[in-house]
Order: sequence, then C-alpha cells, then structure tokens
Amino acid sequence: MIDFKDQTILVFGVASEDSIAWGICQTLAKAGAKLILGYQPRYRSRLLQLQKSLPAIEGLYPIDVATEEGVQNFFREFSLHHSHCKAHALVHSIAFSPRETFDRSSLFATQEAIDLTLTISAHSLQRLLRLALPHLVPGSSTVTLTYLAAQRWVPAYRVMAIAKAALECWVRELACELGADGHRVNAISSGPMKTLASTGIPGIEKILAHVERNAPLRRNITQEEVAGAALWLLSDLASGVTGQIIYVDAGYSIIAVPGAIREEPCHLSRLPLWE
Ligand code: NAD
Repeated sequence: MIDFKDQTILVFGVASEDSIAWGICQTLAKAGAKLILGYQPRYRSRLLQLQKSLPAIEGLYPIDVATEEGVQNFFREFSLHHSHCKAHALVHSIAFSPRETFDRSSLFATQEAIDLTLTISAHSLQRLLRLALPHLVPGSSTVTLTYLAAQRWVPAYRVMAIAKAALECWVRELACELGADGHRVNAISSGPMKTLASTGIPGIEKILAHVERNAPLRRNITQEEVAGAALWLLSDLASGVTGQIIYVDAGYSIIAVPGAIREEPCHLSRLPLWE
C-alpha cells in the first residue's frame, strides 16, 4: 500500500548493518524509494560494502553534522550529482557523546563534552533541515530517532539524555516552524537495541534484559519494527501527523511499576477463562 516509487529519500546515520538507519533503508528500498545517504568518513569502506547489497542507494556522500561546512559539503555533492532532484523525505538517525560523559557523573561533564553532545545529537536536526530545505519537495516528511531517557531517568545515559530532551523539543519547534509549508517533522522513540552507538552505554546488556522481562510485549524490539514506523511516518498515510514522539518500544514506556514484582507472572492462557 505504501509506494515510494520515483521518490528520493535522504538518510543520515548508517554506520553498520546494525544501524537503525540501515533497517530503515532496507524497508524504504522495498517500498520503491531511491536513497541518498550521508555518512561519516570513518565508516566509508563499510558503507561501500553495504551499498553493493542495496541497489536503491543512488548516492553516498560524506557528512559531518558537527559543523556548518560539514553539512554544506554534503549538499554541494548532492546538487552536483543529482542536479534536478528534490527529496521527499529525510531520516536523521545521528547521535554522539564522548565516552567520558557516560562514565563520569553528569555533574562533572565538561562544557566541551556537553556542547559536542548537544551539537551532534540534537541541534544537528535544525542544521540539517535548514540546509536540506531548498532540496526538499513542499510537504516533505522528516523522522529523527530519540530514546525514553529524554523523558525519564535511565542509568548511565547522562548528558545524552539532555540531548534527547533537546532533540524532542526541536521536533516540536521545527514542526511548528515548517508546518505552514506542509513539511512534517516527527520522532520515533525506539526501545534499546544493540548497535555501534548503544554499545558505548555502560549497562546496555542489563537494560535489554530488563526490558525483555518487563515490557508489555515481554521482549525487545527489532530494527524492522522501527523501520515500519518510519515508513509510515514518512508516507502520506501519516499526512496528518507532525511534531509527535512515536514510541516503538514493545510498550515499555507505559510502565511505572514492573510486572516482575508479581509473585505469579500473568499469562492469559493460565486464567480459568479457557478451562
Ligand atoms: P549507530 O552507531 O549505528 O548510528 C549512529 C550514527 O550517528 C552513525 O551512523 C554515525 O556515523 C552518526 N554520527 C555520529 N556523529 C556524526 C557526525 N558528526 N556527523 C554525521 N553523522 C554522525 O547507532 P544507532 O543505535 O543506529 O543510532 C541511531 C539513532 O538512534 C541515534 O540517534 C540513537 O540515539 C537513536 N537510538 C538508538 C537506540 C539504541 O538502543 N540503539 C535507542 C533509541 C534511540
């Protein structure tokens, strides 16, 4: 039902086959989209390998969202190689924080580390969209990736939680700024998943195990499930949706007290109803 044939989508944030953005690329390609990727130069060889497995990728250009010039360079290459192309949608799946911010109390995070984390993980959405706008069709759709730590405390997430809160605020701000021209901006709040970025978070294995035990669906989520939500948000089926944070987390975000405190686990099949 969702058809992206003849539509170009800009995707930022593929670093490996585990990347959330890579799952989104695969799903968008199945829906017929043409993809243009922006990548960090240190992942170049891996990206070139991945490109071979997905013919929908029509272009691959370096980007560094930490600087204005780093994003301008991407769009210079984009204009050069795809001169008459306007993109229909944009995926921002980017985050970074220096390792020390996860290991050290947030009270002692340096100004430099805070600035870098916020610039790359939150403010880059504004920079990317501003420079992308001349290359987007009217009524485009943008999706970014966030995490529950923006709303509720999660151990070891620290400065990145502040960045995710700022990112979610940018989503609302940009949705209102761009909505008059029909552009939509939304975020997917993904449950935890093993990726290059998440392996840097101390205790990620325990968080995954905790979610598996306590989420309403009693499991973690997959790359494909996040990609499905992204496909919907990027498509016209979500034409009335903007400024939202959509949770794809097996329902974990609705929990206040984990069901695991029950002495007997609750399974419908064990109720007398079916006896
Ligand atoms: P990932 O490591 O695969 O992706 C992170 C991406 O950010 C990489 O492609 C990296 O190249 C890019 N990036 C970092 N600094 C950059 C810069 N200066 N310029 C351009 N690109 C830069 O990990 P992921 O888990 O797929 O992360 C994607 C997004 O999903 C992030 O925003 C992350 O916070 C979010 N997220 C992840 C999880 C999880 O558990 N993995 C959960 C919720 C949200």
